[in-house]
Amino acid sequence: MVEQLFAWYDHHGRSFPWRHTTDPWAILVSEVMSQQTQIDRVVGRYLAFLDQFPNPETLAAASTGDVLAAWSGLGYNRRALNLQATARVVVESGWPISAKELQALPGVGPYTSAAVACFAFGEQVPAIDTNLKRVLSRWAGRALDGKELSAAARGFLPTGEAARWNSAIMDLGAQVCKPTPLCDDCPVAQGCLDPTVYVPPPRQSRFDGSVRQTRGAIVKVMLDGRTRSIEALTARLGHDEARISSALTALTAEGVLRATTDGFALADLPH
Ligand code: SF4
Repeated sequence: MVEQLFAWYDHHGRSFPWRHTTDPWAILVSEVMSQQTQIDRVVGRYLAFLDQFPNPETLAAASTGDVLAAWSGLGYNRRALNLQATARVVVESGWPISAKELQALPGVGPYTSAAVACFAFGEQVPAIDTNLKRVLSRWAGRALDGKELSAAARGFLPTGEAARWNSAIMDLGAQVCKPTPLCDDCPVAQGCLDPTVYVPPPRQSRFDGSVRQTRGAIVKVMLDGRTRSIEALTARLGHDEARISSALTALTAEGVLRATTDGFALADLPH
């Protein structure tokens, strides 16, 4: 299985800029940017972001406005602010290097911590995402989850090859073992128990008409640094006032905006 998978990966694996580095900063940025954003859209933005913020020091010192402007269009602005908060922790205390310790960083969950620990620091851990879950579930012939999935992933991990393995499984899941699998092209079909096992993709809520859409629109407008009232934002964006109000509450709670006497303005994260 491993041999066939690696032979396939050597010919069909995808080449991304972050696959040619072990710099934890470059890898963390790629992982955070790839969450909930299509990978085709990520590469150009990733290179531009790293150009502007090549290390934790530069992002840690940036203003919230600059960070959000650099993130503009990628959505889920909270990810950018968490990245900046992480940069500040790293500047202050250095990099945690194990997957377990990395999870203490703002916005870094089990998948991202495992990916950074593996790709940057060589820890032999599986990076469990939806692709890996789908592939291993089909190999096992039933939907795996939780501890069972984690044990199966560790069981398959070839000694000393975690980085190559994680990349290969991700690529197999993205290109062959897709939600509708292309089993005729599969290099590991002989070891797969049940291609019909269905693992639902993570739910993405509808974007049009959502609070998420309104949040993105508000942040875009507020990047000019001016203070605006709910009424001014409602008039400017033409969105439902209740939705604007929900979005403002969330953005304020998350530290993207701050309430002023006249309305709302962009907030800098506390140093
Ligand atoms: S045989 Fe089909 S379902 Fe099984 S791993 Fe390959 S592509 Fe996925």
